[in-house]
Amino acid sequence: EQKVVLITGCSSGIGLRIAVLLARDEQKRYHVIATMRDLRKKHQLVEAAGDTYGKTLTLLSLDVCSDDSVRKCIDSVKDHHIDILINNAGVGLLGPVESISMDEMKRVFETNFFGTVRMIKEVMPDMKRRQSGHIIVMSSVMGLQGVVFNDVYTASKFAIEGFCESMAVQLLKFNVKLSLIEPGPVHTEFETKMMEEVAKMEYPGADADTVRYFKDVYIQSSIDIFEALGQTPEDIAKCTKKVIESSRPRFRNLTNSLYTPIVAMKYADETGGLSVHTFYNLLFNFGSLMHITMSILKCLTCSCLRRRTISPD
Ligand code: NAD
Repeated sequence: EQKVVLITGCSSGIGLRIAVLLARDEQKRYHVIATMRDLRKKHQLVEAAGDTYGKTLTLLSLDVCSDDSVRKCIDSVKDHHIDILINNAGVGLLGPVESISMDEMKRVFETNFFGTVRMIKEVMPDMKRRQSGHIIVMSSVMGLQGVVFNDVYTASKFAIEGFCESMAVQLLKFNVKLSLIEPGPVHTEFETKMMEEVAKMEYPGADADTVRYFKDVYIQSSIDIFEALGQTPEDIAKCTKKVIESSRPRFRNLTNSLYTPIVAMKYADETGGLSVHTFYNLLFNFGSLMHITMSILKCLTCSCLRRRTISPD
């Protein structure tokens, strides 16, 4: 029996790759409903889906920020039956808080937090009734550890982590699984879109020092980190497929073993001092953030921590 998988935000990046990987499953175990806000952007997905398009992969329009759009989409699914819901749609936001409008901040929460909550609220009742189903949420390592100049994005991912951690307990009683995927940096349009915005922005309201720390220190190290540690959207798709196919899926699934020490550091010191001061020193007290980060991460990543990540292979 084919499992019905509904995925949000499939016009690009990770969502597109998950849709294609599942639709191309050799045993045809999945019927993928790939959704996106604007169907005019289907081109890349349709091309990547190849001959699975119209067979194991169908397209529907869905905007996670709209009650109407979500309801219409779910209503058009046969019997409202969704076995696996993959909440992938998300937006980023970078920069000094002083220069970001409240509306821009709210837009991030509308998509990353309320968008995911809206989807879960709509799909979960049927899963509870059937006592089966799996909800996947594309969170981020930034849902576990704050990152300088990603204040609002990080907060939106923390919010969804808290929501899911609470929901998971109730859902367990109904035999519905809930899993978070926690990627580190991934090479997608997400990265490109943010870098383009950074180049355009003037940062009104932020003082010169802050702008300098952001542009010259943070952005530069961020580019280095993406280059050195970045995974591909295919990697994240493979990890997600593993989580879906696991008989006992974990609640949190880090995809990048180099990030486990960052999480370990947080749990090692519940006062938060270790995390805050380590990040401060990395950013402001050393010449090359990249060099130091790599050496710390390498020496901290022992085999026992590696086992705690899910690998694409
Ligand atoms: P992306 O920009 O390629 O994909 C995001 C998708 O979400 C896009 O297709 C976009 O159109 C869609 N989207 C945005 N608003 C939407 C809305 N209101 N309704 C429906 N769809 C909407 O970037 P990506 O990297 O593939 O991001 C996918 C997810 O992975 C996001 O939740 C992101 O936070 C998360 N993530 C990304 C990275 C990274 O480094 N790229 C790292 C960790 C987590």
